[in-house]
Amino acid sequence: MRKIFIPTYQIKTIYDLEPSRLKELGIEVVLSDLDNTLASFRCKDAEEKTIALVNKLKDNGIAFYIASNNTSKRVQRFASTLGIKALSGLRKPLSRRLKRLLDVEGLDKSKTVLVGDQIMTDVIAGNGAGIRTILTEKLVPEDPPWTKFNRIFEKGKRKAINKKGLSQKL
Ligand SMILES: [Mg+2]
Repeated sequence: MRKIFIPTYQIKTIYDLEPSRLKELGIEVVLSDLDNTLASFRCKDAEEKTIALVNKLKDNGIAFYIASNNTSKRVQRFASTLGIKALSGLRKPLSRRLKRLLDVEGLDKSKTVLVGDQIMTDVIAGNGAGIRTILTEKLVPEDPPWTKFNRIFEKGKRKAINKKGLSQKL
C-alpha cells in the first residue's frame, strides 16, 4: 500500500487522546478535523466534552487548531466557543493550505499531528504536508452526505492497514 494512505497512529476517538501520551511522542500541536472527528456535522456549537478536551490539552501545553474542509461559517461558529484558531475550506486531501497554515503559524512539523476520521482526506493531507497523522473511527454513525464515496474507498484500506499492522494503536 502506498505510504500516503497510512496513518502514523490510530485511536478510537479524539476524546481518547491523553496529553501524557502525546508528550511522550513529542507532539505539541494538534490539528483536528471537525466533522465526525470532533462532532457530528449536525452539531453546530461545541459541546462540553469538546471544550473539556481542548482545555485539557491547553493545560498541558498542547496547542489545538481545527483544520476543516467545511465552510468558514460552520467552522468559525464551532470554534468560537472553544477560543481557538480554526482553518476552514482546507481542501484536504490537498496539502497546500495545510502547509501554509504550518508556515504562517510557525509550527514545527516534527511536533505537529493531524487528527481525523478519514483516510481519503485527513490522512492523505497530513502525510502530504509531512506531519504525523492520527486516524480515528467515526465519532457518530451518521456521516455528512459528501463523505459517502470516501468511505467506500477507505474501507479496504483500513482493513489492510490493520491486518498488516501498518500503523500504531495509541
Ligand atoms: Mg471528518
